[in-house]
Amino acid sequence: MNKLIIVAFLLLSSVVVAKADSHHIQAKAYLDVTNGELISPAVFVVTNGVIQAINPENIPEESILIDLSEHYLLPGLMDMHTHLDLDYVGNFDAIITQEPATKGALRGAKNAELTLMAGFTTVRNVGALHVTDELIGASLAQAVDAGWIKGPRIIPAGHMITILGGHGDVTQGLVPSLLEPDYKMGVVSGADEALKAVRYQIKQGAKVIKMHATSGVLSLEDTVGAQQLSNEEMQVIVDEARRHGYKVAAHAHGTEGIIAAIKAGAASIEHGSMVDKEAIKLMKEKGVYLVPTSGSDEFIFKDIDNMPAITRKKAEEIMPLAQENLRKAIKAGVKIALGTDSPLIPHGLNAKELSAMIKHGMTALEAIQSATLNSADLLGMKDIGEIKTGYKADIIAVDENPMQNIKTLENVRFVMKAGQVYKNHTNKSELPIN
Ligand SMILES: [Zn+2]
Repeated sequence: MNKLIIVAFLLLSSVVVAKADSHHIQAKAYLDVTNGELISPAVFVVTNGVIQAINPENIPEESILIDLSEHYLLPGLMDMHTHLDLDYVGNFDAIITQEPATKGALRGAKNAELTLMAGFTTVRNVGALHVTDELIGASLAQAVDAGWIKGPRIIPAGHMITILGGHGDVTQGLVPSLLEPDYKMGVVSGADEALKAVRYQIKQGAKVIKMHATSGVLSLEDTVGAQQLSNEEMQVIVDEARRHGYKVAAHAHGTEGIIAAIKAGAASIEHGSMVDKEAIKLMKEKGVYLVPTSGSDEFIFKDIDNMPAITRKKAEEIMPLAQENLRKAIKAGVKIALGTDSPLIPHGLNAKELSAMIKHGMTALEAIQSATLNSADLLGMKDIGEIKTGYKADIIAVDENPMQNIKTLENVRFVMKAGQVYKNHTNKSELPIN
């Protein structure tokens, strides 16, 4: 008798659990991002955060309906190049010199939520700039996972690894006695320090390593394209990251640095402004991704009057070149993953990058693939990037067919991440679930 009661209780409690965790979504259609086909009917059973069935014969009785019958569904979008701890007004000086890292973490929480609400369910945070030995991106990733804050799944890089005085050494332009950052903040001289920098970032929670192969636009070096980390330093960084099972994203504008980073084994070239024929050939041979961050130009130019003369000159010089070279890379079939360099595209407007890439020669499907399939591949994650049985239920909904109007992705109505609904603005009278 007692046994029976226990069995009945267990059955009852399992029903209660299933009820709480089982939803079914009914939509107008969903996009198969592998081929661009819109598929309808579009009914999905989502259980315990995973897409359990697509267009099944029977819906589990206890499952709760999410009615998106007027909307088109896509897998959650991904952004491979964000800096969640930053906002941008022509430069980052005020944040770097005046904002404590604790406030930077809160700024990051704000921006993480904006990003998720824009339909981006996974991001790579490729470096925080606040002056601290701590890793804001790693803390944000953990806070999201623990459910403390709303945000995308975050793959954090920790501090960018750069040379003393290079792009990413945040004390550029400050008097020397204030602070001389070391390997903990990613600033290195020589292979030993590069090794230590990688180990420190990983010890403190980095899941990807970001290295600066060349100088940059928004830092104070004279040139934008010069190689900075040496070949040897880059090799040490990539080898050490690989031993831990992590990939390396290489910031690189100049051709020489791009090629050196590819040869060292970087998984992705960020920006890649001066990518040339040889670099394109190498990237294709080695399956290296380009993360062009092309949509940020428009926003940088909007704020150009706030830029210091030196960065302004570099921006005006490099951006038209970068656009031309991106067109060539797209045409040549280099693998491309979406990155916004947000806050350069402001957080929450990440989908603007899709239109920018289409402007430079991609089809709508290719642009969407760069934010889904390709990003998942770059991350090495096999259960995101598509709406598919067994995949994580990262699902967004929009008003129109995105293949016909990519801009509909700038106005995402519904966001589900791992089966949890974070936004539901599909009906004007309806309040968001969270
Ligand atoms: Zn960046």
